[in-house]
Amino acid sequence: MKNQYRKILFLTGAGISAESGLATFRSENGLWNNHRVEDVATIDAYYKNPDYVHDFYNNMKPELWNAKPNPAHLAITRLQKEYPAEINIVTQNVDTLHEKAGSKNIYHIHGQINQAVCMNCRHVLETWGDVSSETICENCQVQGMMKPNIVFFGENLLYMDKVEDLLRTSDLFVSVGTSGVVFPAASFVQTAKYYGADTVELNLEATSNNFYFDKHIMGKAGTTLPKFVEELLSDIKNS
Ligand code: NAD
Repeated sequence: MKNQYRKILFLTGAGISAESGLATFRSENGLWNNHRVEDVATIDAYYKNPDYVHDFYNNMKPELWNAKPNPAHLAITRLQKEYPAEINIVTQNVDTLHEKAGSKNIYHIHGQINQAVCMNCRHVLETWGDVSSETICENCQVQGMMKPNIVFFGENLLYMDKVEDLLRTSDLFVSVGTSGVVFPAASFVQTAKYYGADTVELNLEATSNNFYFDKHIMGKAGTTLPKFVEELLSDIKNS
């Protein structure tokens, strides 16, 4: 591990938002808000029954609207303000807690709860209100083509060109609260390592990606991440 980095990339997953009260996917019962993943997070499920899927995400909005960032989100913002490097955040989360924490350079590769995308013209609608198969696209005026801007299993991730570039050019890769089983995000550490980055994992437990991380910091991100950020900041002061 170095004393100073010039470009830092955070990969965040559901674990960083757990202490804000948002359930993770693979928590004990393996369900997301009591629904099976196949019923609410696949493109086939959406085509079969769009309003069932819309309702699932509409019902999630109030909880995510009300959620507050925790010390882990705030620690990244602090680093972005105080550390002299380019710092990017690639998140698998559909919540907006990084934004609420005041962070910048955020790439939601799995989409965002507060957006819908028109499958006719690709226009992205920003809304915390309900979306349904009745919704008319404000851009192309076609009805019934607005899909939650959530990347379902069976769809391509967003911002992948940018992510590839960040993985090749960052010299520190920090994974926070992600189980390392959802691909391709699970392979990001391998790419970052291949291109020479130091790699650190913060999670409750070591994940199956063990091999590619130089350092594991175990515990709750709300405690471990502020401490890790403090250490990065003191390393540059002392170097
Ligand atoms: P995951 O649920 O598969 O894994 C979460 C990981 O976080 C686990 O390894 C767990 O050990 C760890 N964890 C739990 N609490 C933690 C804490 N306090 N501190 C540190 N680590 C903690 O999540 P994933 O790998 O990110 O993938 C799940 C997918 O589900 C994502 O793609 C995302 O789109 C979606 N999802 C999003 C949200 C959200 O937006 N907040 C919530 C649930 C699921």
